Amino acid sequence: MAQDDVFKKVVAHCKEYGFVFPSSDIYDGLGAVYDYGQMGVELKNNIKTYWWQSMVLLHDNIVGIDSAIFMHPTIWKASGHVDAFNDPLIDNRDSKKRYRADVLIEEQIAKYDEKIEKEVAKAAKRFGESFDREMFCQTNPKVLAEKAKRDALHERFSVAMNNVDLEELRQIIVDEEIVCPISGTRNWTEVRQFNLMFSTEMGSTADGAMKVYLRPETAQGIFVNYLNVQKTGRMRIPFGIAQIGKAFRNEIVARQFIFRMREFEQMEMQFFVQPGKEMEWFEHWKAFRLKWHKALGFGDDKYRYHDHEKLAHYANAATDIEFKMPFGFKEVEGIHSRTNFDLSQHEKYCGKNIKYFDPELNESYTPYVIETSIGVDRMFLSVMCAAYTEETVSNGETRVVLKLPAALAPVKLAVLPLVKKDGLPEKAREIMNELKFSFNCYYEEKDSIGKRYRRMDAIGTPYCVTVDHQTLEDNMVTLRDRDTMEQKRVAIADLREMLQDKVSITSVLKKLS
Ligand code: ATP
Repeated sequence: MAQDDVFKKVVAHCKEYGFVFPSSDIYDGLGAVYDYGQMGVELKNNIKTYWWQSMVLLHDNIVGIDSAIFMHPTIWKASGHVDAFNDPLIDNRDSKKRYRADVLIEEQIAKYDEKIEKEVAKAAKRFGESFDREMFCQTNPKVLAEKAKRDALHERFSVAMNNVDLEELRQIIVDEEIVCPISGTRNWTEVRQFNLMFSTEMGSTADGAMKVYLRPETAQGIFVNYLNVQKTGRMRIPFGIAQIGKAFRNEIVARQFIFRMREFEQMEMQFFVQPGKEMEWFEHWKAFRLKWHKALGFGDDKYRYHDHEKLAHYANAATDIEFKMPFGFKEVEGIHSRTNFDLSQHEKYCGKNIKYFDPELNESYTPYVIETSIGVDRMFLSVMCAAYTEETVSNGETRVVLKLPAALAPVKLAVLPLVKKDGLPEKAREIMNELKFSFNCYYEEKDSIGKRYRRMDAIGTPYCVTVDHQTLEDNMVTLRDRDTMEQKRVAIADLREMLQDKVSITSVLKKLS
């Protein structure tokens, strides 16, 4: 299946089966804002639980908080967001469409990479087994020419971004002859900076109202509370604070479904360390976070690191964990070494001493911080894309099955009476009432058993049990496995023990320790 098609199908599937709806759907939606439906909220909660437990439960030096979305406006001045949380935007005068200048140039760089890959693929086909990729790339004139153009562009782009040189960004777009994909023209405006923070007014009178921001990241809520937590929790460095919460960004180009939203959710952990120890911890968290992703079992080839060349104003090292989405490898999580930038800035702006006293060194210092920051919604999208599968089954029909890790599946067990009579529904309800305390069960009696199995496949339910007439006599049910479609008779009394381990988040957490 073409990857474009996969993405379209995932988006349609999310709506059809109650995972994700456009926000304000009956009013034709609101740009880049989405609602999670009855299945989506369960999957999302499971992702959050997996993250929370892996951070807070598995680490005795990490605790969680839940800070407010509204914060004192000076926080965003101190953090640099008021002055520097900008994206460079450019408009096409003919289509009236707005683009991120940096993204247009990054796409152009990707085009050179694609051309090189095409040449390599052609040669690999021609030479067969004797093909030496490295040698070919070092000697083939076409590849060398494309690579030279690509590297020159990349260098020019990096310099322009680092110097925040907006005129140069525009000049690159002109020189590279980048056209608007809608109008096909090169009629570009100037490049301007656009601040991504949403603001609103707090207070009742117009005079006394204060401009406040909707937080663009959850991290600052952790920074301004770090000493409260350290003192009341008697934490000693190194220690971490975790938080899950909403963040808001007025994204210029909001496309690709829940990949880039204006209201989204982040799971962030700030890890406070002694100055000079940050690189050690940076490597530690880089490795741990990748392990967390891989433990879900979608295949190691789906992930890669991408080290940042242009570092944010606060960072001295940064890497992304990218996931292979149907539209290419994309950032799902960022791991950043934020130095002592944020804490020093807050100390300066609030005028209070917020240093940590280290009893082992007998000195006070401003801790350095390693941050792991992952978007719940992007994680959700990566899980849906990896899980969405179309299979041809033995009777020649196609079944759509979400191969979700059982620990993340919204429903763990469907309990299905074979027919809607003869006491089978009552028996099925009895099983539900017994098991619903252990995991999320789903009862359904409408339609043929085959159709009901298909519906459960489509929402990723790992197990179904069918209650038939025989059940009334021997207290055995048919247990069906989503992936293998194998069916076997099992005793009702054994169900909990058989399934609990398989569907619990603990089973994935154990892979991490
Ligand atoms: P991008 O370069 O894609 O805009 P970013 O580097 O600005 O992302 P961070 O500020 O590092 O992102 O945020 C950490 C994580 O939060 C990202 O890895 C992503 O998963 C998530 N995230 C950021 N912006 C959005 C958004 N607009 N919609 C959904 N998730 C987002």
